[in-house]
Parts: sequence; C-alpha cells; structure tokens
Amino acid sequence: MSRKKVKELPQGAIETEALPELPADDEPQYPTVLQGVKNNMAKFDNCVLLTRVGNFYEMYFEQAEEFGPLLSLKVGYRQTKMGPVAMAGFPFFQLDRFLKTLVQDLQKYVAICDEFLISVSDKVKSGGLKHDRWVTRVVTPGTLIDEKFLDPYENNFLLSVHPESSSNSERPLPSHNDVQTDSTTDTEQIVGLAWLDLSTGDFFTQTVARSSLSSALTRIAPREIVLPADIVEDIKDEVQQIVGHDHRLLTLHQSEDDFTTMLEWNGMLEGPVDPNADEIFKLAEKQAGHQLLDYVKLRLQGLQLRLQPPRRKELHEILSIDRSSLRGLEILETARDGLGRGSLFHAVKRTVTKSGSRLLRDRLTSPSASLPEINERLDLVSMFFESEELTESVIFRLRRTYDVQRIVQKFALNKGDADDMLSLATAISETVSTRDLLQSSVSTDESPLRRLLLRFDLEGPVELQTSIFSAIDEEGLQQKHRLEEDEAASVAALAHDVVLQSAPEELDSLPKAVRSRSKSEEPNKDDIVLEEPWIMRRNASDILLRLHQDLDDLEGEKLALAERLRTELSAPTLTLKSTPGLGYICHIRSATGFNRAKLESLHARMVSSSKSTRSFYLSDWTRLGRRIDQAILNIRDEEKRIFASLRQGVILNLVKLRRNAAVMDELDVASAFATLAREQSWIRPTVNTGTEHKIIGGRHPMVKLGLEEQGRSFVSNNLVLDHEERIWLVTGPNMGGKSTFLRQNALLTILAQTGSYVPATHAEIGLVDQIFSRIGAADDLFRDQSTFMVEMLETAAILKHATPRSFVIMDEVGRGTTPEDGTAVGYASLHHLYHINKCRTLFATHFHALTDMTGDWKQLACYCTDVLESDDGSFAFVHRLKKGINRQSHALKVAKLAGLPPAALKVAEDILQHISSERSNLQRNATQNQENNQTSSIAAAG
Ligand code: ADP
Repeated sequence: MSRKKVKELPQGAIETEALPELPADDEPQYPTVLQGVKNNMAKFDNCVLLTRVGNFYEMYFEQAEEFGPLLSLKVGYRQTKMGPVAMAGFPFFQLDRFLKTLVQDLQKYVAICDEFLISVSDKVKSGGLKHDRWVTRVVTPGTLIDEKFLDPYENNFLLSVHPESSSNSERPLPSHNDVQTDSTTDTEQIVGLAWLDLSTGDFFTQTVARSSLSSALTRIAPREIVLPADIVEDIKDEVQQIVGHDHRLLTLHQSEDDFTTMLEWNGMLEGPVDPNADEIFKLAEKQAGHQLLDYVKLRLQGLQLRLQPPRRKELHEILSIDRSSLRGLEILETARDGLGRGSLFHAVKRTVTKSGSRLLRDRLTSPSASLPEINERLDLVSMFFESEELTESVIFRLRRTYDVQRIVQKFALNKGDADDMLSLATAISETVSTRDLLQSSVSTDESPLRRLLLRFDLEGPVELQTSIFSAIDEEGLQQKHRLEEDEAASVAALAHDVVLQSAPEELDSLPKAVRSRSKSEEPNKDDIVLEEPWIMRRNASDILLRLHQDLDDLEGEKLALAERLRTELSAPTLTLKSTPGLGYICHIRSATGFNRAKLESLHARMVSSSKSTRSFYLSDWTRLGRRIDQAILNIRDEEKRIFASLRQGVILNLVKLRRNAAVMDELDVASAFATLAREQSWIRPTVNTGTEHKIIGGRHPMVKLGLEEQGRSFVSNNLVLDHEERIWLVTGPNMGGKSTFLRQNALLTILAQTGSYVPATHAEIGLVDQIFSRIGAADDLFRDQSTFMVEMLETAAILKHATPRSFVIMDEVGRGTTPEDGTAVGYASLHHLYHINKCRTLFATHFHALTDMTGDWKQLACYCTDVLESDDGSFAFVHRLKKGINRQSHALKVAKLAGLPPAALKVAEDILQHISSERSNLQRNATQNQENNQTSSIAAAG
C-alpha cells in the first residue's frame, strides 16, 4: 500500500536525469528505455507500469511475465547486455481497454509513463529533438477522469475515512488507552468522511457516528476507500469486510502534513471555500478531506485539480437508510445476483440523461428529510404530471444534451478535445431552449418552476457557445476522425507482426504535423498525400485567416513550380513531395523520355532511381517545401491557441456551466417521475410533519412488475399506522406476502421522500428520519458470522438507533435459533420498539405466541395473510391483509409446491399432526380461564 509522500514523487514534467537510482557510469546498464522503466518500477512499486514507446504501451521485466498472460498479450524477450528482458505491449489506442482490465477487473494501480518529444540544445548529436518519458498519472479505481469504461450512469467516488483524531486538540487524548471502545464512552466516536468524483468534480463531506459507518459506505458506494495508514484495527477490519464484499479497493495512505485550514484547499478548487468554512465543517470531515486531496494529488502527478468546493451532507437533512435496508430493499441492486435489473432504481428509472440518472441514484439512496425540499420536488413533478406536452418537450431537449458535468471536468483537468467542445456548445444551446420553453409556459408567480428558472445562469455560457460554434469546424473534425480510424487500423495490423520481433523504439513516431504530410518513408506509389484536416474554421481568428491565406499562396507557388518543372523537364508525372524520411523530394513516376540534360543543369541531387522512376532534391522545392511546412505548423499553433482560449472560456464559466447542468438534471428527474407516475398510475403522496402512515391501495413497485410480466396481478394493501396502531404484528402462511407487504411500505416511504409519486391510491406519510430493516439479504457482509449473529447485529443497531420518527420493518426475527429462543428475542425486540423506540413498526413473525404475549398492548395491532383452500385440495394465497392472527404457517403446502417427495411429505404431516395435538392439549389446560376474543379470526386447524 502506498506510503509515499507527494514531495518524494516527481511532479509533472521531470527529466529522466532527475530519477533516482541511476547506476554509476561504470556499472553495466540496460538500454535507456529499459533503465527508465526499471527506475519507474522502483519508484511506483505498487503499480503496474505501462510505458509508451512509439505507438505502443509496454510492460517489461517481471510485470510483462505476470500481466502479459492475464491480458492475453504475447510475452516476448528483448536481448540486452544484461540478459533477455521480458516485454508485452499493445497499441496505444487500446489503452482504455487494457486499463479497464487492469484497474477495474484486476483492481490494480496503473502508472502511465508517457512519451514526449522535446527539443534539446545539443542539435548536432540529436537533430534537435529527442524522446523523453515520465509518469503522467497513476490510475486507480477511484481516480478515473475520462476513461471510456467509466460508468456514465454512476458516480465514481473515491472516499476518504478519517476517525476524529485528537491530534488537532479538539478532543482530549484518552489517558490510559489509545483505542476508545463503545462501552467506555457514552458519546460515540465520530468518523469524518470526504468523497469526490474526479470525473464530475463533485466533492462532499459528512460526519457520521461510528456505528453508521457501514451504512454510509453502502450509500456512497465508493470505488476506492482511503484510510489513514495508522487507522485503528476495528475500523479497518469493518471497512475491509465491506470493501471485500462489494469488490471495492482499500488504500492506506499517510498524508504528508497534518490538516491546518480549509483555506489551503483553494488551489485545488474551482472557487474558494466559504471564508467561514473552518467553523462550519467538523474537524473529522476536514481531516478526511485533507487526506483525500493529498491522496489525489499523489495520483494525478501534479495535474491541476479544479474540484467544486466541498459541500456538507447534513445528516438531519436526509432520510437515512441503513445498510441492510439499502441491500435488503434492493434499492440499487438485487440481493440475489447483485444486478441492477429488478432493483427499485431500475424499476423507476425513466431519466434520459446520464447525469440525471446519477442524480436519481443519489436521491434514492439518500432521500430528503426536509419537508420544504420534498414538497418543492413534488411540485415540480406535479407540474410535469399535469402537462404531458410540456414533459415531452423538455425530454426532447434533454435527450439532445450531453454529459456536461463530465465534459467540463475534463476541461478543468486540462483534458478534453474539440469533440467535447462541440458537445458542450450543443448542450448549452439545448439548455437555453429548455429555459425559454419553460419560461413561456410559466404563468403564475407561485409556479414551482420560478425558483428553478432563477437558478439558470446563461449569459456567459451562451457567449462561450457562440465562440465554440464559430471556431470549430465540424466537418473537418469528422474527417479527422475518419483518418484516425484508418490510422488505428493500420497500427493494429502492424501490431500483429511487429510487436514481438522488433524493438519498439524502432516504431518511434514523428511529430504529427510532419508525419501527416505523408504516411510512408518511401515516395508514395499511389501518389496520395494524406493531409490532416484542420479542426478550426479558417476565420476562427484574424491571424488564422491570414495564415491560411499564406498557406494558400504557398500551395499556389507549389502548383506553379510543379507545372514549370513538368514542362521544363518534359515529365508530366512529376510531383513534389515531402516525407519524414527523405525530406523534400521531386518524384517522377514514369521516367521515360524526360529531359535529363535540363535536370542536370538544375543541379538536382539524386535520391533514388530505377528503370522507370526518379527521385531527386531540388533547392527550389526544398526552400518552398520548408516554408509550406512552417506555414502548416503556424496554423496548427494558432489552432491550438484558439482551442486553449476556448478552454479558458470553459474554465471561466465552470461554476455557471455546472449550475445549469444541475438544473437540467433536476428537470430530468422530475419529468422522469412524472412519466413514471402517468404510466403506472401512481399518485402524489402527502408528506407531513406527523408520525403517522396512511397508505391506501399500496403496491410493491418491483414485485408488481414481476408478477405482471408473468400475467399475474398484484393485490394492493392498506397500511394505517397511527396513535392507535403504531405497531402491526403480521402473521400468515409462508408465501402469503408478509415480506412483500413490509418492504412495499418501506419503499413507498423512500419514494415519497425522494420526491416521487408512489404506487398507491392514497398516501399520507409523516416525515421519517431513518428507515431500518431486519429482513435478511441473501448474503451478508459478516460472512464469517452465523445467520443468527447477523440477525442480532442488525436488530441491535435498530434498537439502539430508531427514534419516534423512524420507520422499522422486521421480518422473522429469531428465525436462526430454537423456537423458544426466537420467541424470547422477538418479544424483547417488540418490547423495546414499543416502549423505548416508539417508532412506526411492521413486524412479521411465525412465532404466534408473540401475538398472545402482546395481546394487551394498546398500540399494537395484529394483521394476517391467509390461504384459501378448496374442496379438491387445491389452495390459493390470500395476499390481502386482514385484521387478526393466523396461526397456520402452511409450510407443508409450500414444501409440496417445491416438490418434496410424497413419502417425506407424509412423514411431515404425521409429525405435525402429533405435535399440534399435544400442544393444543397443553394450551387448553393453560388458557382455560383466559378469554380469547380473537378466536373468530383464527384459521381452522388443517
Ligand atoms: P412471505 O413473506 O409471507 O413468506 P412473500 O412476501 O415472500 O411471502 O411473498 C411470496 C410471493 O407471493 C411473492 O414473491 C409474490 O410472488 C407473491 N405476492 C406477495 N404479495 C403479493 C400481493 N400483494 N399480490 C400478489 N402476489 C403477492
């Protein structure tokens, strides 16, 4: 794991000479490139090193041997004075593909060492230019910027976790023990979190209680987690378990210096932090932020960062969903296969943009706990719900925008190309058109749109859009892409044969401007000269126009010169060429009958001749050729300058562009919810400040879809939790729909506080602060612990943290142990929830004794599902809940459905008969005097 300090590492452009561990002169050495590789491998010792050599990225030495086969690359050997050196490589344009395998699939850190052509003063020796290489970036799962395999629909978060430490003296050092345990302190330890997405520039912080850490990790779902190297073992173990389970990466990192003030972060932000930030943010989250930025600096090797100023996620503003609910309720992925399909996110996603879909994800995992915010979101959905036409028009525009958040971030990190620039301009113009459309449809001041519209800030961006459109030549750009594809194809073909036989240095590329004039070292047989098209319009600047006119004039001169030579030499096939290998040559293709005497009088210097062709130098063409190449270089330079000024324009408008894009994302989510509601007949919930739930005709959003796919219908159910009935104790047969009922109500609550319509005919929901569930996801984070231990851990967390504003669902607590123990634990949980937590609770159980034991609890009500049997022995589940208790589990019916052998079923039936007759004898004696007013609803014994 990395413990290197930033200062120890070369930043940005370092000379190879500056690298350490260069052997003394008299030691035998590897050839330059390999020696450089050796040095980098020592320096970035926890990384796979990819070194660009010509058109290839190469791995060498033991890394070639280890990773070559994993990447399906042939491993070759290069002979050196020091013995054979293993090497394996791939063409440069496949970098993304191999990075994906290395970083995403194999979870490796990858150091990319790029190649640069630099001018050197020692012109005689090297011809003025030489290759140099240095590591430009270390790519890890959490530090992706614009890699093609970056999932566009998800944020790529890197999370830093930092327990509040006493080093900054806000908290006294524990005197006898450096690890504080829960039992020794009343106040729980605080853990600081800071997370960012390099691809969007999003940067958040939060502090959570130690016990909520795992929920936070699940909610944020980071790709990579950074912990301080000296983290206490218990936090490390817990994070490690979650990370291992979710296949994320954990990195230990020691910051170079201690945190001092947030003002120090300003250099890495697009705008300064709030001047009072140091008072607003808590120490632990500042420490986490400090560690995060320190780590990112190290990974980006000096690349200038421009993040959004950190935003605090206030815990009291979000509906917190614990880890087991996030997983068990299948909000983002299904518990069984971990796939998106079948999840709540998948079922409700109607967003049409990538960033809108990221916002939806974020909202579903951290719904709001603020009433005004929820209502504002719902108002917007209602507005779209009421006008299908408006919804369609907005969606039409949204579809034509691009992922502005990621595009602008590329520019902020000094990346991004002309295509990104055009996409950005298109997105801006669609944003303007959306704003105009909405403005014209807003009639009253109370419209929910008013405030949203005020957030658009388009003046600067529109100016930028105009300059982008008037500078970049779309057609030229398309032509350029076609050429690049051809080039890639030819390198790929080349790669096949050449990669193993020749030293890659031999494939060194020349400067593009020169190379592009001609593709081959030899005069082109077919006389096609490939010109790289310009990407800027001729009139993008006055200078550019003048430079193009200069070039036109020179091309005119060239035509005239060629024409003159053809006549003078009587050589109609004469062409003037410029090639990287040979320079400026005149070429005659069919050299029969041309004027040799004249050629001699021109003092031509022959390059090559065959029976039918002649190539020679002529000073007139050499001089003119040089001027043409210079003019081309001048144009390229001016194009670069114009591009740089457009980039500068993006940087200047960064904040506005991001803000506008955020408004568009909100419109995407709101119009998507409206579309969903119309399509599925969902209704607007009323969220209020009470602590009651009243849901009429509620449906489970995913189970319903699943049943409909099979042509079955879903039975809706009501739920009324109020001061008379705060806890519903649900019994009923296996497969009767208890679990579905519990989950659907938790999901409806989440949807409502996300700001969505809900699947019901009527819904009033008192604002919930936390949702907890004990429902047993298919597998769990504490893999090495028994089912019962997991149950108890989850139950403990609920009983410790649920408040009167919380919503709790508990499914079959005590299942993993004996019926007696299970009943005892179930009773204790109910007791605690009823008397201490006082929260809204749905509790499903097979332990029917619980219904008797809680019979006199006023605010607890019993409900049940049932089985309907017909005379012919067939049966059907009654999924509609009714008041009462169902003491029948009908487990054997399910066993029969599942295909248990008839002989085994018979034995089970006999035993069941025996046990229940014994039990009813016992019960009859014990309860003789007890009145049982629920007898009417008890299902008859089977
Ligand atoms: P339980 O928890 O009582 O064992 P589940 O909630 O797991 O039962 O439901 C079992 C199956 O019954 C579900 O997978 C679904 O196919 C069906 N089901 C559940 N609730 C309903 C309902 N309200 N309407 C129709 N089918 C339902």
